[in-house]
Amino acid sequence: MTTGSSNVLYDALLGAARDPQKALIRRPAPAAGGDVISYGDMVALTGRLANALVGLGVKPGDRVAVQVEKSAEALALYLATVRAGGVFLPLNTAYTASEVSYFVGDAEPALVVCSGASLDAVSVIAGKNGARCETLEGDGTGSLMDLAASQPEAFETVTRDNDDLAAILYTSGTTGRSKGAMLSHMNLLDNARVLVDTWRFTDADVLLHALPIFHTHGLFVASNTVMLSGGTMIFLPKFDADAIISLLPQATTMMGVPTFYTRLLARKDFNRDLVSHMRLFTSGSAPLLAETHVEFEDRTGHRILERYGMTETNMSTSNPYDGERRAGTVGFPLPGVSLRIADPDTGAPIDTGKIGMIEVTGPNVFSGYWRMPEKTASEFRADGFFITGDLGQIDEDGYVHIVGRQKDLIISGGFNIYPKEIELAIDELEGVNESAVIGVPHPDFGEGVVAVVVPLEGAKLSEDGVKAAIADKLARFKQPKRVFFADALPRNTMGKVQKNLLRDDHGAEFSEPVTLS
Ligand code: AMP
Repeated sequence: MTTGSSNVLYDALLGAARDPQKALIRRPAPAAGGDVISYGDMVALTGRLANALVGLGVKPGDRVAVQVEKSAEALALYLATVRAGGVFLPLNTAYTASEVSYFVGDAEPALVVCSGASLDAVSVIAGKNGARCETLEGDGTGSLMDLAASQPEAFETVTRDNDDLAAILYTSGTTGRSKGAMLSHMNLLDNARVLVDTWRFTDADVLLHALPIFHTHGLFVASNTVMLSGGTMIFLPKFDADAIISLLPQATTMMGVPTFYTRLLARKDFNRDLVSHMRLFTSGSAPLLAETHVEFEDRTGHRILERYGMTETNMSTSNPYDGERRAGTVGFPLPGVSLRIADPDTGAPIDTGKIGMIEVTGPNVFSGYWRMPEKTASEFRADGFFITGDLGQIDEDGYVHIVGRQKDLIISGGFNIYPKEIELAIDELEGVNESAVIGVPHPDFGEGVVAVVVPLEGAKLSEDGVKAAIADKLARFKQPKRVFFADALPRNTMGKVQKNLLRDDHGAEFSEPVTLS
């Protein structure tokens, strides 16, 4: 792909000739009545921030690690980092200091940006790794913004080519070690172009954006797609059903995780009239239950468009815009993406309709895991296909179905959780012999984390005691919602814990509907 531009991603997202007055972000602030950041404002802000980054010593190729609340300024920091030739490294706001310490040690960023509340802990971590540390708050204030305020708007955008890195996003690791997925300018731009075309985004679109922007869904799928099309986003700091319901009349499109849709359906005032003007609802990051799809259509007349992707591959499949959006499927491979179902062990192709490993290749697929060449090599086939770890099948009409995850991943509230990491934390506790962590159906989060713990003989453990002991080690979304005790874990003849039996025992744990406002 030749773009003829000097910075492949930045130029496409913000460098295009556009009306500078056009609204990029509307933020509904009840007190001030809300405000608007135009495309012109955003270009100016990225210029000031890029100058500040350079002043802080960020050079082309340097990582900028960012753990901050969602804000227009945080999005500007992403764009400024790319514009300055840096590599944006967003971190989940729920990560604890010990988790941040791992990421900073692994990625060796030149700069870490955090909130004032975590400055004490994060500045020590940054200092140990030779990185500078600045703050940015959810309201757009902070030491980084103070520095930017005194900088000029003019900034000579740093040249970056297709294969240069634009971002590193850490994904949970099966062995407890997170891996940094390296995403190039071309990976991100190509996928955004494909999504603009496939989902028909234009500058008339207004996307209701309630996703976090530390994850591929909110940052790339939502924000890149809208910016590339010249549209507008209504930025909500997080999902809030009241706010969504009051703002839907101003929107044309919404992107969500399945939890958004189940929460909206729990509201009586979420009805056909409210959304009759909407153009598109999309869902992804976790499986959308076929029942939710059907209930949504019954209630609103809209068929949610479900798509499938992951941090490493960006978006790989989508249900069609015009054709049948089939419940319980993730649609067809996107243009330019090759997807196949293969034998998980050998990689040999599998017949249509049979279950196997989903493997993908195309310009959407990342270039590898940061400083993990062996891990990278083991997750690609010799012919370049990436082994996703998701098990699926393709039906005779070509729709891709996801049937499970080989990697034992739990997805709770749209966040990925690898049981191993939680098991390791529990196993370290005094009085614990071993543990197994599973995900079981949860009406609000999709899956809820449950731990089954085997105590050492004579040890006195309690559910609250275990929960409290790991509370400062793991992000809140990873902490088990329930802890059970057992004399032993069920194992098969190969010695593997039979988590399916544990899921059977505890599968109904969260079956009581939760009360939603
Ligand atoms: P992440 O890297 O956080 O985006 O998580 C990617 C994983 O989420 C995939 O490997 C899938 O297991 C899962 N996922 C994403 N979209 C869907 C979907 N529409 N249906 C089922 N699982 C999905």
